Parts: sequence; C-alpha cells; structure tokens
Amino acid sequence: MPDPLHNADDRRRYANALRLASERRMAVLTQQLVDGQISLQDWQLAMREELRRSALEQYITGKGGDPTHIQATDYLALGPELKSQYQYLSKFARAIDKASQDGKSLDFAVQRAKLYAKSTQAIFWQSAIPVRLPQYPRDGQTACRGNCKCRLRLQYEYGDGGEVVATLVWWQLSPAEHCEDCLTLARTWNPLRLATAATQESDLAQGIALMLVESPELRPVAHELYTIYEVAHVEGQWEGSICS
Ligand SMILES: [Zn+2]
Ligand SMILES: [Zn+2]
Repeated sequence: MPDPLHNADDRRRYANALRLASERRMAVLTQQLVDGQISLQDWQLAMREELRRSALEQYITGKGGDPTHIQATDYLALGPELKSQYQYLSKFARAIDKASQDGKSLDFAVQRAKLYAKSTQAIFWQSAIPVRLPQYPRDGQTACRGNCKCRLRLQYEYGDGGEVVATLVWWQLSPAEHCEDCLTLARTWNPLRLATAATQESDLAQGIALMLVESPELRPVAHELYTIYEVAHVEGQWEGSICS
C-alpha cells in the first residue's frame, strides 16, 4: 500500500490497478487448473484466499489506503460479501467439475475467474463512499434512466485527526447529455456534502452500481457481478451500454 491516498481520484486509480493485478493472479491460477497442474480443491482454496485478499485491498484503498486507520470491526463488515462470493465460487467449482467429467473444454473458466476479481471493486466503492447516496447515475431516478452518461466526482473533508468528516460528491454531466433531471443534479450536487457521522451507511448494491457507473467496461458482465454477491438488480439496466 502507498502512503495515505487523500485524493479521491488517486484512490480510484489505485483500486483499478489492484483489480487488474487480482484479475491476473486469478487468471494464472485458473489456467493452472485448466492445464492440470493443480487440483480443483487446491484451486478453490487459492481462489478463496485471492478473494479475501482482494476484498481487503479494495476496502482499505476505499478508506484511504492506511490499514492502521481501519478497525477490526470494519473487517468483520466484509464477512457477508465474502460469504456470498465463496458460495458462488463453490457453484463455479461444481460447474468446472461437471465440464471436466463430461470431457468438455475448461477454457470458459479463465474468463469467469476474472469476473470474481472484477467483482471485488464493488467493495472499493462501498468503502470509498461510506454513506447512502440519495441517488446515483443510471439508478432510474432521472428521466434519462439507463441512458444516463453522468459520473460522480468525489472529494473528502478531513478533521484534525485525519479522519474523513465529510464526503463531497459532484454530479458530472457528459458532453452528450442534456436531460433536465441531470442538469438540475449537476447544479445542486456541486458539491453535495455528506457528513460522515450524520448519515446512513453505504450498502453493496450501491457499491456495485457505482462500480458500473465508473467502469463502463464492466457493464456487459453486470448480471454476473450482481449474481456473485446475490444482490437483486433490474435486468437489462446495464447490459448493452458499453458505448458510453
Ligand atoms: Zn445523467
Ligand atoms: Zn439525465
């Protein structure tokens, strides 16, 4: 981990780099399984360890990158997320086992393994915006609904002890879009200030949605990413919209 990342854009870039590194490690592991170098059981254990590591890295990066600022209870909050990822991994392992017994190619496994690494970035967004936003781009609350191309810009306000006292959120228009709702949001969230103490906690559904807003390249696999976490979502909200 680098020095504390006070700048929200630095955090986001670092989280992206971590996600890509995690994708590479999970792809290598899975290729070893496909090539018969490791057993399915060893692969599953190693993937669980990778998921745990990635979730922690994303979580800590969202909080500014300094592990000493993180309480033991914060780590516990990751439990439910990891549990659903592990359960989904078990299903994945059974699918691999079946394909192998049916004499089918296991090539699908490498791409699918990378999805797990991608999914961990939702934890970054959950951790980077520790408050429940009243709305966010593409959540269906604007007239442009799923066509919204807006993004969010973040900044933090720090207290004397270096703690984040508020999250500042700007609603940013894309050059292409002019919906009235988004124009109003761009005027009013300029920025929207969310004090840390006085607000609700974030949740994973918001984390996944923000990940998809900020990483449009993940939208074609949105359904899988929600499924990994067993989070309910509107079908078709994200798919087929990589052109933004
Ligand atoms: Zn918009
Ligand atoms: Zn709009």
